[in-house]
Amino acid sequence: MPATDCEVLTILYFYRPNPMENKPVARTLRLLSQLMELHDENPFKIKSLANAAFKVDKLPYRISGKSLAEMEKIDGIGKSTATKIVELLETGSITELTDLISATPEGVVEMLGIKGIGPKKIAIIWRDLGIENVGELYYACNENRLVEAKGFGLKTQEEVSKVIEFRMASNGKFLYAQVDSVAGELFQNIKNLLPDAIISYTGEFRRCCEIINELSFLVGSSDVRSDVETLTQSDILQNITVKEHHVSGETVNGLLVDIALVNNLAFHYELFAQTGTEDHVKAVTGRISEDIKEADSEGAIYKQANLAYISPELREGDTFIEKAAQDQLPALITYQDLKGTLHNHSTWSDGVNTLEQMALYCQDHLKLEYLGMCDHSKSAFYAKGLSIERVLQQHEEIDHLNKKLSGFHIFKGIESDILNDGSLDYPDEILQRFDFIVASVHSNLKMDREKATVRLIKAVENPYTTILGHPTGRLLLSRKGYEFDYKKVIDACAANNVVIEINANPLRLDLDWRWHQYALDKGVKLSINPDAHRIEGFLDMHYGVLAARKGGLYKEMCLNAFSLEEIKKEFESKKQVINAHR
Ligand SMILES: [Zn+2]
Ligand SMILES: [Zn+2]
Repeated sequence: MPATDCEVLTILYFYRPNPMENKPVARTLRLLSQLMELHDENPFKIKSLANAAFKVDKLPYRISGKSLAEMEKIDGIGKSTATKIVELLETGSITELTDLISATPEGVVEMLGIKGIGPKKIAIIWRDLGIENVGELYYACNENRLVEAKGFGLKTQEEVSKVIEFRMASNGKFLYAQVDSVAGELFQNIKNLLPDAIISYTGEFRRCCEIINELSFLVGSSDVRSDVETLTQSDILQNITVKEHHVSGETVNGLLVDIALVNNLAFHYELFAQTGTEDHVKAVTGRISEDIKEADSEGAIYKQANLAYISPELREGDTFIEKAAQDQLPALITYQDLKGTLHNHSTWSDGVNTLEQMALYCQDHLKLEYLGMCDHSKSAFYAKGLSIERVLQQHEEIDHLNKKLSGFHIFKGIESDILNDGSLDYPDEILQRFDFIVASVHSNLKMDREKATVRLIKAVENPYTTILGHPTGRLLLSRKGYEFDYKKVIDACAANNVVIEINANPLRLDLDWRWHQYALDKGVKLSINPDAHRIEGFLDMHYGVLAARKGGLYKEMCLNAFSLEEIKKEFESKKQVINAHR
């Protein structure tokens, strides 16, 4: 089995020769052979190293106890490998390995640990697709980019995606979307075991956090002791432990679960206390002098504190306390408020479904009024970005479909790459043909904060930019995203009437909800964009809505909650501003 990233780290930084173990030696040799293959070195050397790694692993005695001369004589090892093993045991590393590692991005070394794709394929992923870490690779599977690469197919892509999901899970952190279905199932299982109990989610999951460390439940019971016993005896979780009135364990995927049981009378107070962050709970209880441990509802607790009821999503710190005190909490956006979907990809660039399939799905299944197509622009060559000629052809198809569809409209958009200097990807005479433009960064993501800020502001100041797409480029649990001065960029959006995207892909949820209030206060509208690359991708809007609610978004400030007529006017007025300045 290839080394996992954890093992790689162990080998690199913490290697201490362990006389009891041949495994670390075998793993190091294997990693060296993989890196040599990745860098296209002599195939005979690679093969003999891989072979030696296998042999060392299977030896019935400790390799560290042998001298160089003795090692050389072991079948399948030979002089050159024996010298490397001695170097490793004496110094903790092999020079050749250290050199190769320094010539390889860290994330690419990590990718070598993914089961099912060998170094040859990793080389293609890295060199041809420009993917440099596991998170980008996972996202590329989502965007269907592996299918096109040499030696890959839909099946490999699906396998790779599954293996990565499993690896992400092994870090103990999960995306909200990964927990979603498990949570529902578990809820039902608890309900089946304890039909008379009151059950609710609490903690991160009830607050709709983008990353979940632990899925927690609260159970209100008339006989806590007996219900604890019932849960403990059940098989709804693995590795069950009991501590006071908490039953804890994990799911098959390694998600930690905590079920707290309380007496019915204490249920509502505990629900309140176990849902909000510590700061939030303190801020609320600090305003109450009487005993509220047996409140009838969470609403009653907020009322006692002279606050309007605060939805679970908003119970982070004291951000919304002031608004609740003045009864000025926003009416949070709901999925039903969405009237259309902007920023989506079809087979014109890297999507799976045709433009017509995407449109019909939105009209018939999602009951939306409009679809904004935003295939990739020409610089995104890896995603079959559209040449000017193809843009014009696509516009013909859209015109044709718009005549055919009644009560539904397709908007001509593009996801224009923001080039290194902040400019957009087409000349003005092409840009002006679109109804709207999403401007996103896809290349050169490793900029310093200042450069990134200047680059983004330049794109925002371009009169053709309608929406700033996935502003930080982050991929949750795997890629941090570039840093920039949020306030300056958001202020620029306000000054230039540019909408900011909340990319609804569960891996992105970018713009982060922590910045929504700042944007809204500045008068910047947000747009919940699925960035769908296939029809199922539209369903991600659900996660976008949750993130938007967490940020306090309300429908009046959500671009795709505008009706077809309203959004037509919005796009039109932006164009008028451009024309007035020409
Ligand atoms: Zn994009
Ligand atoms: Zn996109």
